Amino acid sequence: MFSQKKIKEIRDQFPILKTKINDNSLVYIDNAATTQKPIKVIQTANEFYIKQNSNIHRGVHFLSRQATEKVEFVRKQIQKMIHAKLSSEIIFTKGATESINLIAYSIEPLIKKGDEIIISYMEHHSNIIPWKILCDRKQATLKIIPINKNGLLELEYFESIISYKTKLVSITHLSNVLGIINPVKDIIKKSHKYGSMVLIDGAQVPSNLDIDVQDLNVDFYVFSAHKMYGPTGIGILYGKKDILDTIPPYQSGGEMIKYASFKKCNYSDLPFKFEAGTPNIEGIVVWGSAIDFVQELGIKNIQLYKKELLIYAIKRLNSIDGIHLYGGGMNNIDVKSSIISFNLDRLHYFDVGMILDKLGIAVRTGTLCAQPLINFFNVEGMIRVSFSIYNTFQEVDYLYECLIKAKNMLFKSVIL
Ligand SMILES: *Cc1c(COP(=O)(O)O)cnc(C)c1O
Repeated sequence: MFSQKKIKEIRDQFPILKTKINDNSLVYIDNAATTQKPIKVIQTANEFYIKQNSNIHRGVHFLSRQATEKVEFVRKQIQKMIHAKLSSEIIFTKGATESINLIAYSIEPLIKKGDEIIISYMEHHSNIIPWKILCDRKQATLKIIPINKNGLLELEYFESIISYKTKLVSITHLSNVLGIINPVKDIIKKSHKYGSMVLIDGAQVPSNLDIDVQDLNVDFYVFSAHKMYGPTGIGILYGKKDILDTIPPYQSGGEMIKYASFKKCNYSDLPFKFEAGTPNIEGIVVWGSAIDFVQELGIKNIQLYKKELLIYAIKRLNSIDGIHLYGGGMNNIDVKSSIISFNLDRLHYFDVGMILDKLGIAVRTGTLCAQPLINFFNVEGMIRVSFSIYNTFQEVDYLYECLIKAKNMLFKSVIL
């Protein structure tokens, strides 16, 4: 595992962590919303505009060739990172949300009235709403896999509803609220038995786990760069070539067309068929350097350190009177990543979040883009802490102290 010294070296690479809030050092534990960026990634963005800026795949000139090469290099980096068979199976989008919408529109011709799409209770809104809209458009039925009190999917229920009517199963790999890692390989296998396609929402995964799309045998896999130390506004859709070849494009325009006249058009080959318009070239190039950052540290090392931090945090938080941790705490430790959502008895999550903010701690509060899941636990909102490689055991101690402080302050005001 990384030593304290190594973690300090890593922290030093993140300039934003030097921020002071009301004289308190920033404790950034909202990493499931977005991670901070190391200096190397920030410098890559500068360098791009100073030395490399140009449009891609179009110009005959030096800069355009160079930018094109960079973009295609990053595509190959991602192909290797997720063990895809072909780099043309990697489609650049603006993020996980756009990737899911792309599929929700492009598979429309495959969905008939009465067909079914299965999702789960623990999905992010971006893996719920596109399917709800598709089902409404096509008079198809959206079916939901429930979860148990510990936050695990009810897999027996899933097996009871999957059928030949199921056209798509779309499940999160790692819940952004509970931190639970779902048994997606098993779900994919069971779905394929009925001929259903499977999309896995991997938005939380690249900074936490290894991804092997061929081993999973998944049809579509999506994530964004900004939750793995990269920039916002860029992400990917991975799709199996034989499926992507047969479904229509989601948007049209430049780049995605091989031949165009007013009578006829031929689409480009993959991946360009799904990449209409000038992409986020800067974002792609900068993402490449975020991937280097993760790979230099090693995802296994990151995983080990974050697990230790998670265990420590669960134990400290559990020792607070009146705290409710959602998603099983230590019971689920083998399938849990470094995200903890909780509430404090009789206190409003928002008030707690405000006090933490005054003390320099950045957490997420509210419905966490997963309202059905929040409702499942019969609350209106939660407080979420989510760790990254630059967080420390001392920060967990500080969080603990501040929660006690918040409790004392708020309780006083409740009693008065
Ligand atoms: C963040 C997140 C998304 C959406 O990602 P964007 O980058 O906002 O498109 C989808 N699913 C999960 C599980 C997430 O955590």
